[in-house]
Amino acid sequence: MTIAILALQGAFAEHQQMLQCMGVDSFFVRNLNDWKREKDGLIIPGGESTAIMRIIRDEALFDPVREAILSGLPVLGTCAGLIMLDGEHLGTMSIRVRRNAYGRQLGSFHTVGGFGGIGAVPMTFIRAPYIESVSDGVEVLSVVDGHIVAAKQGNQLVTAFHPELNGDTRIHEYFLSMMGGM
Ligand code: GLN
Repeated sequence: MTIAILALQGAFAEHQQMLQCMGVDSFFVRNLNDWKREKDGLIIPGGESTAIMRIIRDEALFDPVREAILSGLPVLGTCAGLIMLDGEHLGTMSIRVRRNAYGRQLGSFHTVGGFGGIGAVPMTFIRAPYIESVSDGVEVLSVVDGHIVAAKQGNQLVTAFHPELNGDTRIHEYFLSMMGGM
């Protein structure tokens, strides 16, 4: 199994480290040439969604990435990666997202929260969004302080927090299980 990691901006290296620890192959996608490589899934990391959006367009990756996701390529979007999948960005997921949703004082925080099918997982939020509302077909996987922070819609899994910043590999394992296991 090989996972493509969108490496335009943000915390892409941490996802690769996590996959390495799990013995899973991955490669970085910075341009169309990289994108053409065989892949079983895609990770869109956290960072700054405005920057990722600008570069994904500049590199002519917007349409191919969007089409691949709509055709069923499994995707994990974390934090800014979650924002990238909403209706105002790639538009592949039926969610409405509030960016920088926790205000300045709570810009970054760590907690432990329940995650559907897994149990309690560590959650690191960094100037995170949350999901304000979901449409039919979207399964809510985690709610923290009354806000949706993880969800799944078919082949698409999103978390408002950064699962790659803790030693806990269970969210990545959950994602890999969406492709039939490791
Ligand atoms: N605040 C960022 C944004 O709006 C997301 C932060 C993150 O990915 N850690 O894109």
